[in-house]
Amino acid sequence: MRERLEAAGINDAAVLRAMATVPRHLFLDPMFDSRAYDNEAIPLPIGDWRTPQTISHPLTVAFQTQMLQIKPTDKVLEIGTGCGYQAAVLCEMGVRLCSIERYEALHLFARRVLGALGYRPKLVFGDGFAGCPDEAPFDKIIVTCSVAAPPPALTQQLAANGRLVIPIGDARRQHLFAIDKAADGRTKETDYGRCTNFVPMREEVMSYYGAVIT
Ligand code: SAH
Repeated sequence: MRERLEAAGINDAAVLRAMATVPRHLFLDPMFDSRAYDNEAIPLPIGDWRTPQTISHPLTVAFQTQMLQIKPTDKVLEIGTGCGYQAAVLCEMGVRLCSIERYEALHLFARRVLGALGYRPKLVFGDGFAGCPDEAPFDKIIVTCSVAAPPPALTQQLAANGRLVIPIGDARRQHLFAIDKAADGRTKETDYGRCTNFVPMREEVMSYYGAVIT
């Protein structure tokens, strides 16, 4: 996997090291073991079967993490914990992480796997559109689902000199953006190019049994 990531332009040594360390197969259904280290998004075994959620492609995880320009002292917010793989990579890089997921089943799955691997991020079951005001401000924010426009709560909870990495677009066409907040609070967007594989960010929160809570 490391060689493929390097060939695709990932050159942040800390990202490559973290991704070589975190066992991706533990975040997947065992039936996908043989494909766990290929560059694929794979459907997760739990969640809502009508709109299956996926573990992000390794290259997507590497690219977004590299875009975050992580320092081990960073406080980071992730929207869309999913199975917890991206969260594990961030924890492995030494950051203080808070991650939000709207499916309770996925939230609980991630808690179990991350705990078993010895990572202790703050995991929140709720709606990422609200961010995590209790823990704000964040040096870095990563959104792992796509949205039409950056949610205002997230740009608000970004620290001065912080960076938000977010896929913006609709179901068919998305671009990865970095939004940098200057010391005076002004924001600047940089387009890092087209991407297509993100599931949409949705507002309603779902209980373990699939009931819509909000
Ligand atoms: N970070 C994951 C990617 C999971 S896919 C990984 O490492 O593979 C994106 C996730 O975003 C899905 O699990 C989906 O349920 C979640 N999501 C979508 N809308 C959300 C919202 N409003 N708040 C929190 N999570 C959300």
